[in-house]
Amino acid sequence: MSVPSLAMEDAGDSQHQEARTARLERILRRDGPACVWCGRRLGDPLVPATTEHVVPRVKGGPSWIENEVAACKRCNGERGHRTPAEWLDECERRGWDPSPKLIIASLERLAQAIERRGGQRRARPYLASQLRRLHRRSPYIPRIEVRGAPDRPA
Ligand SMILES: [Zn+2]
Repeated sequence: MSVPSLAMEDAGDSQHQEARTARLERILRRDGPACVWCGRRLGDPLVPATTEHVVPRVKGGPSWIENEVAACKRCNGERGHRTPAEWLDECERRGWDPSPKLIIASLERLAQAIERRGGQRRARPYLASQLRRLHRRSPYIPRIEVRGAPDRPA
């Protein structure tokens, strides 16, 4: 009796794993094969790739691909509860090579997706304040105008 149930569990796990792998591959094709926080090349056995939420789930960030970037396991784990802006600063203090450009692009993509789909009220103020902070911090990165963006009047 336990054999069919184990087989079903395995199938479920491997389908879940396939979905995660496919999602990670889409993100890597979109953003390139480097960790957004340290710049190391992902996929090396010593630099395992993970996906992480730019706006954390605990702050209302949705599990949408627009809110996900690829990071190495170390950086994903060490970020903890820091905001993207705080963690970018810390990565630079550590002498790593983070990508404010990819983080800003992710936040802007998420703002556009929220504009299209609506909802996500909890994520909006966090998203807006991070975009303001990151554009102040990296003024050389061009802004994308998002119609009715969370921090602008519609
Ligand atoms: Zn990293």
